Amino acid sequence: QQMLAIGMAFLIEPKLLVIDELSLGLAPVIVEQLLGIVRAIRDQGTTIILVEQSVNVALTLAETAYFMEKGEIRFHGPTAELLERPDVLRSVFLEGAQKGMEVISGTAPAEPAPAEATDADPSAAPADVVAGVVADLTVDAPVGAAGPDDAGPMLEIEGLSVRFGGIRAVDDVSLAVAPGEIVGLIGPNGAGKTTLFDLISGFTSADAGRVRIAGRDVTGLTPDARARGGLGRSFQDARLFPALTVEDTIAVALERFVQVRDPFNAALRLPAQQDCEFEVAARVDELIELMGIESFRSKFVHELSTGSRRVVDLACVLAHRPAVVLLDEPSSGIAQREAEALGPLIRRIRDTLGACVLLIEHDMPLVTGVSDRLVALEQGHIVTMGSADEVLNHPQVVASYLGTTTEVISRSGARTKT
Ligand code: ATP
Repeated sequence: QQMLAIGMAFLIEPKLLVIDELSLGLAPVIVEQLLGIVRAIRDQGTTIILVEQSVNVALTLAETAYFMEKGEIRFHGPTAELLERPDVLRSVFLEGAQKGMEVISGTAPAEPAPAEATDADPSAAPADVVAGVVADLTVDAPVGAAGPDDAGPMLEIEGLSVRFGGIRAVDDVSLAVAPGEIVGLIGPNGAGKTTLFDLISGFTSADAGRVRIAGRDVTGLTPDARARGGLGRSFQDARLFPALTVEDTIAVALERFVQVRDPFNAALRLPAQQDCEFEVAARVDELIELMGIESFRSKFVHELSTGSRRVVDLACVLAHRPAVVLLDEPSSGIAQREAEALGPLIRRIRDTLGACVLLIEHDMPLVTGVSDRLVALEQGHIVTMGSADEVLNHPQVVASYLGTTTEVISRSGARTKT
């Protein structure tokens, strides 16, 4: 879709093109191709304003950069000079800074253009460029551990397959994930990663194969039964109720798993009902502490940045202490600094819950930094699996997924001056 939209812009030759997140949800090799197309559009004389969470991608493309925080421009100037500003870069690259930040960058056309177009007017910045709140992710919290009874795999999938018409979306995939293991799932757009999650969580019925959670065969069970059996799953686009507060949102997620209340107890507010409410309140506190979101527990969901909403969604996924956690592109659409904070948070979830994690990610620094093992999927089947080094140097993975542009591959990696 992104390719199509930018292709159309290439044909139409607009004077000004505003791109809202070029790299969102895309495999590195596709972003690499898009960089070439965007540069070609610029060479036709179009001025381009790029809103981009990945500083590396933005700075690779843009000559001029604007950094915004809480609706204000914190830096404006040539991108090269931005790299001289350790104060700004600290905010973006997590080290020590306390506030979230997003980036807009302008790339000037090769042909001379009107002054107001080359030097982008901050007041014209898209309305969605708003600084985010970043959670303090360093607090330890005691949440009860969930673990298997034996040393077998926590998640085991065997020969999973599904076809959609003529497409083998998932084709005979087998994988075992050990307790406490974090496995990164990478692969080109359309490789079948999300479909594999749908099969594991029961949103799509498999044509063949089996799924076991903590040794128990859940293949025929509904998504809800699998959740009760120890499976937690996040989706690419976290959908939370905007008008609920953070703590109410988590409480609602918890109540789904709390024993059904007796309406008689509730009406009379008998002790059993109060115990139930205390239990939910205590678990809400535990989850808020675990996720490091104390500072905005009373805020409404619509007040949060995308990254903070993602962390709240994650808290909901963990509400029932799942033994297996499936995370579908948690870094998608969030500020770079928030993406960097996800790695320690995912580790902490694993350590605290004793859960295993299967993580779909296109952000290589995040997925390689946090995963014990990578699995590369392409056209529905596993191409290779092993250490990050082995998988990312596999010729097929490089050719069809990674490409060769370092800034794109390490889209959230710390940028050093070249
Ligand atoms: P991305 O990185 O873009 O999220 P992905 O690896 O998650 O991609 P899937 O979304 O699992 O890929 O899609 C795998 C293939 O199955 C694609 O060709 C897709 O078009 C197809 N597909 C997925 N869901 C359906 C569906 N419900 N009906 C028909 N085709 C589908």
